[in-house]
Amino acid sequence: MELSKPKILIVDDVNANSRLLAKKMSDEYECYTAMSGEEALERIRMHSPDLVLLDILMPGMDGFEVCRRLKADGRTRDIPVIFITSLNEDEDEAKGLALGAVDYVRKPFRMPIVKARIRNHIELKIARDLLESQAFIDTLTAMPNRRRFEEIMDKEWFRAMRKGHPLSFVLVDIDFFKNYNDNYGHQKGDECLRKVGRVLKESLCRSSDFVARYGGEEFAIILPDTDEQGVQLITGNIRDNLLSLGIPHDYSDVAPLVTLSQGAATIMPEEGLEPEGLIEAADKALYRAKEYGRNRVEFYS
Ligand code: GH3
Ligand code: MG
Ligand code: MG
Repeated sequence: MELSKPKILIVDDVNANSRLLAKKMSDEYECYTAMSGEEALERIRMHSPDLVLLDILMPGMDGFEVCRRLKADGRTRDIPVIFITSLNEDEDEAKGLALGAVDYVRKPFRMPIVKARIRNHIELKIARDLLESQAFIDTLTAMPNRRRFEEIMDKEWFRAMRKGHPLSFVLVDIDFFKNYNDNYGHQKGDECLRKVGRVLKESLCRSSDFVARYGGEEFAIILPDTDEQGVQLITGNIRDNLLSLGIPHDYSDVAPLVTLSQGAATIMPEEGLEPEGLIEAADKALYRAKEYGRNRVEFYS
């Protein structure tokens, strides 16, 4: 399978210019073109390019204005912009760079140099994207981490409020996991965390259901548009699937296998309430599940 090529948008009001550039770069990049500032903004929204080559002098919205708008919008701020222009004054170059462009190339340009500059900036962009996506992934389990969880919780909270749907939340904690670590070793403990994470993921039903590693041996599950009955189904799935996987745990007081305690809560989000309230409720239910003997699900009511 061929890896997808990085995408470049070439903006120039003289179509022949952008066509020529596109042709010279099409071996390495997927190239799009636009002939005006307005069209450029539209194409950027449509294609999310990895880099924009931007002419400055164009009828209507000029390149400076396009750049200003891209940098003012959180969704497009990180797309690198390189000006390619016949404007030859140092002040223009200074202005372009001050607006947030990563580079400034004067026409006439030499193709190999432009290509090399583009390659450098695309490499940086891809590395930055990777770093950013990794900041939301738990390295041990490769699941979404707590930071990602918080984002999704906020999003789902407001979506549920808008739609008038219930929102459910489950906190999951492995029983006697300290004993597991102490007796089987940390390595085995890590392996167990990965297995439990996989079981949780496979026990969800809908694409909008979400599970994250919440902390140490705790996981958090967000179930949009789900009531108590739906929660019962999911938490039951989790329990059954983990039991059938049957991870031995000879040092647990509740079973010869790894088991979970789950605390669940359901809420109708509305003005004046906060996601923290839902999380607290599930936490209380989890505490009760532990207190009542572990290896069980408790609902907050
Ligand atoms: P309880 O049934 O009440 O939940 O008891 P517990 O032993 O599971 O809970 P406790 O909070 O006392 O211990 C949690 C343990 O989880 C302690 C720590 O060694 C282990 N743990 C936390 N994070 C990791 C991790 O990343 N890897 C491994 N291997 N162990 C971890
Ligand atoms: Mg714990
Ligand atoms: Mg525990």
